[in-house]
Amino acid sequence: MKLIENLDNFIELIDDLVFIKDTQGVHTHCNDAFLQFISKSREEVIGKSDFDVYSNENAVQFRKDDENIFKSGKTKLYEESYLNQDASVSFFDTKKEIIYNDAGEAVGLFCIAKEITLKKEYEIIYQDNELLLEYIAKHDDLQDVFKKILSMAESRNIDAKCSILLLNDKKENLLCASAPSLPSFYNEAINGVAIGEKVGSCGSAAFKQERVIVSDIDTHENWQAYLALTQKANLHACWSEPIFSSANEILGTFAIYSDKVKTPSDYELKLISSYAHLASIAIEKDRNNKLVKEKELQFLQQTQESNKQLRESEYKLSQLFENALVGLMYVDENRIFLKGNQHLLDILGYDNPHEMEGLSVRQFHLSNESYIAFGEANFDTLVYKKHINIEYQLRKKDGSTLWCELSGQALDESIPADLKKGVLWTIIDISERKILEEKVRDRSREIEVKNKQLEILATKDHLTGLYNRSKLDEDLKYCIRRSKRHGSVFGVIMMDIDYFKVVNDEHGHQAGDIILQEFATVLLQSSRETDAVGRWGGEEFLIIIENTDKENIMNLAEKFRRTIEHHEFSVVKNKTASFGSAVYGSGDEINTLISRVDQALYRAKNSGRNRVEFF
Ligand code: GH3
Ligand code: MG
Ligand code: MG
Repeated sequence: MKLIENLDNFIELIDDLVFIKDTQGVHTHCNDAFLQFISKSREEVIGKSDFDVYSNENAVQFRKDDENIFKSGKTKLYEESYLNQDASVSFFDTKKEIIYNDAGEAVGLFCIAKEITLKKEYEIIYQDNELLLEYIAKHDDLQDVFKKILSMAESRNIDAKCSILLLNDKKENLLCASAPSLPSFYNEAINGVAIGEKVGSCGSAAFKQERVIVSDIDTHENWQAYLALTQKANLHACWSEPIFSSANEILGTFAIYSDKVKTPSDYELKLISSYAHLASIAIEKDRNNKLVKEKELQFLQQTQESNKQLRESEYKLSQLFENALVGLMYVDENRIFLKGNQHLLDILGYDNPHEMEGLSVRQFHLSNESYIAFGEANFDTLVYKKHINIEYQLRKKDGSTLWCELSGQALDESIPADLKKGVLWTIIDISERKILEEKVRDRSREIEVKNKQLEILATKDHLTGLYNRSKLDEDLKYCIRRSKRHGSVFGVIMMDIDYFKVVNDEHGHQAGDIILQEFATVLLQSSRETDAVGRWGGEEFLIIIENTDKENIMNLAEKFRRTIEHHEFSVVKNKTASFGSAVYGSGDEINTLISRVDQALYRAKNSGRNRVEFF
C-alpha cells in the first residue's frame, strides 16, 4: 500500500510524538520527535518492546493501557504521564487508534502523543494554590497550615523534604518553623542559625534575600561547615527560596531538600516560589489574626474600663438624682414621665415612684394650654437644646395645685444605656414665693393708690379741692417758661372775699369753711377747663388764664364777680369779692406778676370792694 510505504515520511510531518506498536507492544514506526523525547536512536526503538524502550515503571503502565484498548476495541484519548529519568514527570494528551488488517483483525496501535507538561504544571501549581489558599483561609493554626503546605510540596517532588524557617524579630537568626520530614536532630541543629552570606542554602538565601540553589551539598562552599550533619541526614541538594511579605519584608525561607544531587527544573522552581508565596500569605494572615486579637483584647479592656467608669458615674448620677434638693423629672420626647426623684414625689404628693411611671405629663397640668406650652418647651429643649425656664401651676396627686418653676436640660448623648433620650426637668416648689409675690403686688397696688392720693394731696387744697398754692406756683412757672420760649400770653386774676372775717366772727370758723368751699365751687363752675383755679391762701383765690389779653381778662374777672354777686350762699346768703388782674409782661418773674395783681386787688378793695381792677 502506497500510504504504508510512505508512512515514515508522512509521520515526520507531525510535530507531536508519533509511534506505531504491534499487539505485543513492539515498536514498528516512530518519528524523530518521539526519538528526541526519549533520547534514543531509531535502532534502539524499532523492533523493540515497551520494556526495552522505557523504564520498567513506564513500560508496565503502557502495556496495561494498550491491553485495555485492544480489549475494549475502542480508540482512546487520554492523559498520560511519563516518568523521566531525573524523576520529573512529563504529561501527554495521547491518542491511540487500533489498526486493523483486511480480515478485520487488530494488528497494532497508531499513537500520537502531544506533550502538555507545561500546561499540566501550571494546572498543578494553580490547583495547589487554590487548595492551599482555601486551607489557609479556613485554618488559623499556623503550624497546621505550614504542615499542609510542606506535605503538598513534598507530594509534588518525589524524594523531597521541605522546611520553612522564619527569621527572628531582629532578622538575624533563622528559627525552624516546620520541617516534619527532616530528621529532628537536623532541625534542632540548625534552629537559631545566624544568617550569613555562606550559611547553607537557607541562611544564605535569607541573608542575600534571593533564591539559593545548591544542587550538590557535598561540594558547595556554603555547606562545608555542615557536612557531618547533612551526611547523617542523607541530604544532598537544597534549594531555598526567601519568603517575602506583601511589603517586601523578608520573613524567612522555604526550602526543598533532596537525598539526591539534583538541579531543579523550571517547573520545580515555579513550585518553590509558589509555596514560598503561600507561606508568606499564611504568615501575614497569622500576623493579622494576632493583631486583630490584640485589638479585640484592647477594645475589651477599654470597654471593661469604660463600663466600670460608666457604672461608677451611673451610680454617682443616681445618687445625685435621688439626693437632689430639687424635684427631678425625666420626660421622654413624647412627654411621658420616665423617672423622678423622691423630692419630686414630695412636691407632687405621690407616695411611690411607680405610680408616676408611664404617666403622660398631662396629668400634672391644670389646663390643656399649660400642657401644650410644656410640650413645646420639652421639644425645644430636646431638639434645639434651648434652656427653658418656665413657671406653671401644677396639679398634685390630690388635685390641689401649686406653683412650680421648671427648667429643662436635654439628655440625649452619653445617657445611661437604660434611659431613653429626653429632658430632665428641675422642679422647684415656688408656692411661697408666689404668695410673697402676690403680697408684694397687692402692696405695690396699695402704694400706687396712696401715691395717687398723695399726689392729689400735694397739688390740691384740702378744704376746697381746688389747686393749692404750690400747684399754682408750678403752673405759673410753667406758663412763664412757655411765654419766654414761645411768646404766649397769659394773665392772672386774684380774688379776695370781701369782709370774710365777719363770717368767721358771726357764724364760726366752720361756717367760714363752708363759705370758702362754696366760693370754690362757684369759681370752678364759672371757669373754663383750660383755666387753672386755685386757693392762694386764706380767703384769696387765683385763676390763671392762658392765651388772654387785658380786655379778655377783665371780662372774665367781671364774669366771676357778677356770678358771685348773684350767688346765694348757704350761711350768709349774699357775699361779694374783689378782683385784681394782670397780664404777664415779658421777662417778669412770679413775684413781679403777683405783686402787680396784688396792687390791682388792693385798688379794688380801696375803691369800695366788689370790683374788678386791672394793673
Ligand atoms: P377785706 O374785705 O378787707 O378783705 O376784709 P376781711 O375780713 O376779708 O379781711 P382779712 O383778709 O383781714 O380777713 C381774712 C380772714 O379770713 C382772717 C382769717 O381768720 C380768715 N380765714 C383765713 N383762712 C381761713 C380758713 O381757712 N377758714 C376760716 N373759717 N377762716 C379763715
Ligand atoms: Mg384777705
Ligand atoms: Mg378779705
